[in-house]
Amino acid sequence: MKINILILVTLFFISNLNLIHAQDLKFYGKLEPGNLIIVKGDLIKRARLDTLELKIDNDGIFCFGFDLSERGSKILNVKFKDGKVLLKKIELLPRKFKVQRINNLKKDLVTAPRKLNKRIEKERQIAYEARSPIGKIDTAFYKTGFVRPIKGGRITSVFGSQRILNGIPKNKHNGLDIAVPRGTPVYAMAAGIVRLAADNFYYPGNYILLDHGQALNSQYLHLSKMLVKTGDRVKKGEKIGEVGTTGRSTGPHLHWGVQWYLRRVDPAGLLTMGFPDN
Ligand SMILES: [Zn+2]
Repeated sequence: MKINILILVTLFFISNLNLIHAQDLKFYGKLEPGNLIIVKGDLIKRARLDTLELKIDNDGIFCFGFDLSERGSKILNVKFKDGKVLLKKIELLPRKFKVQRINNLKKDLVTAPRKLNKRIEKERQIAYEARSPIGKIDTAFYKTGFVRPIKGGRITSVFGSQRILNGIPKNKHNGLDIAVPRGTPVYAMAAGIVRLAADNFYYPGNYILLDHGQALNSQYLHLSKMLVKTGDRVKKGEKIGEVGTTGRSTGPHLHWGVQWYLRRVDPAGLLTMGFPDN
C-alpha cells in the first residue's frame, strides 16, 4: 500500500514538472484538421506524433500537420534532454468548408478521357518518386518564416472548399487559388530544395514541388514558365516561375498547395500563424 502511495506521489510530481515544461514549448498554428503546426522549444531530445518520429532542427524547431479530412485524437509526445516527457492530447473536430461550383469547365478536364489514363498514371509515378526524399531532412529550411508566392491578386478558391465541377462532386480543394495575369512572378514561400519541375502534366500543368525540410513541402501549379530545375536550392521569396493556365485550369492563376508529407494543409494559415516571432 505504501508503495502505491509513493508511486502516486511520484506520478503527481512528474506531471507537475511536465506542466512547467509545457510552457517551454511554443506552438504556432491552430490544432485543427487542415493546419500546419510549428513547435519551438529548448533541449528537445525527440518528438513523436502518435507513433511517427518527428524531425527536429538544431534550433529546437519541429512541425507537423493534419490533413483536412483527419479526425480523432492524436498524442504529441515530446521528450526533453533531461529525461522529462510531455504528453499533449490533440482532439481533431470536424471543420466546415465552403462548397464551390464550377460549371464552365471543358468536359475532358472534369473527367479525363480514358485514352489519357496511361499518361496520367505515368505522371503520378514521376511525382511519387520525386517525393521520396521528402521527410528525410532534419533542418527546418522554413525557419525564417513564409512569404505569399504572389503579390496581390484575387483569391478565387480557398483551401478545403468542396468542388462540384459541371455538377460532379470532386475532392476538396487542396490549395489556395490566386488569379493574376499570365506572367506574374511566382516566389518560393520559404527556402527549400526543388524536388520536381514537372513539364506540362495533365492536371497540374507545369508545376514545381519544393521541399522545405521536416516533410513540409509546397506546390505551385499551372505555371507558364519555370525558372528552376529538379535539385536546385531556392531561397525564401526567390522567383521560381511565372503564372499561367497550363493543365486543368480555366484561366491564369496560381494554385498554391502546402503539405506535410501527403497531408494537405491550408497555405493561408502559414501567413497568419505568427511564426517566427519578430
Ligand atoms: Zn486550385
